[in-house]
Amino acid sequence: MSTTWHILGAGSLGTLWATRLARAGVPVKLILRDAARLASYQSAKGLTLVEQGVEHTYPVIGETPDSPEPIHRLLVACKAYDAESAIAQLQHRLVPDAELILLQNGLGSQDAVAAQLPQARCIFASSTEGAFRDSEWRVVFAGHGYTWLGDVRHPTAPLWLEDLHAAGIPHEWSTEILTRLWRKLALNCAINPLTVLYQCRNGGLQVHQCEVATLCAELTELLECCGQPAAAEALHSEVERVIQATAANYSSMYQDVANARRTEISYLLGYACSAAARHSLALPHLQQLQARLVDHLRARGLASD
Ligand code: NAP
Repeated sequence: MSTTWHILGAGSLGTLWATRLARAGVPVKLILRDAARLASYQSAKGLTLVEQGVEHTYPVIGETPDSPEPIHRLLVACKAYDAESAIAQLQHRLVPDAELILLQNGLGSQDAVAAQLPQARCIFASSTEGAFRDSEWRVVFAGHGYTWLGDVRHPTAPLWLEDLHAAGIPHEWSTEILTRLWRKLALNCAINPLTVLYQCRNGGLQVHQCEVATLCAELTELLECCGQPAAAEALHSEVERVIQATAANYSSMYQDVANARRTEISYLLGYACSAAARHSLALPHLQQLQARLVDHLRARGLASD
């Protein structure tokens, strides 16, 4: 019997992974917040995945953090701001050489988790798959994509990548996972905050080309200063390409703000500004962008961290 995948967080990505693994016959258990969430989940009879308009419900076993079973492999599918505290609740269940797969966007939460669990193997992931919840315990697979996985301390790929293969989860082991995460962070910093401030789709930034170019120049400087020259390469042209290719889409940060949800700002623009400060690098436009975004969030009564 292969090792059970414990999945922490039954949101969009957690459900996308749990259902596909379960469908392939891989053992999966969902860890829900508390007894009330578990009761709600149990009344739903399972997790539903909607793919190309077709829905299937998978009766994945649910449990609470205080369930007794030891955890060998944990897929962390919470938001970046919840990852540390959610893991702390089940730290006592992790075997000493447990493996954690961290799906969080941005940077900062992965290092915090790795410091929290020095004996565990922490695998960082960067995903371009897209999913959203259209109701409780039901997720729509909105955008096919890819997931890169890597371990900054151990370049060897784990054997369980076979489970992902069996589950049809497109993935690649990457020895440059930090480059990927930094690149995605930079793209996000150049696009998402401006879509919130101008309240527009990604394509709406085509009329703010100068501002985008200035931000890209500062982000390039930051990436080079942080030892990430590969993530800096041709950043501006990729940002322009993404703005064009996703012109009709609303960015994830735009959607969070529009739905009055907390954003992951501290792990994206906030992380970039803190990194610049650590290197005594003056990036006035990036810092001003952060200040404007924080004001915008506060004015709407949203958390600004
Ligand atoms: P999400 O839909 O909000 O799901 C997060 C889940 O974490 C929620 O179900 C939440 O539970 C659960 N959670 C939080 N604290 C918990 C705790 N202490 N114990 C148990 N469960 C807990 O978020 P998401 O969209 O899947 O995003 C997860 C991460 O993936 C983010 O960093 C995001 O940026 C990244 N990402 C997402 C996508 C996407 O398309 N969605 C794509 C790429 C990357 P409740 O339901 O009880 O609130």
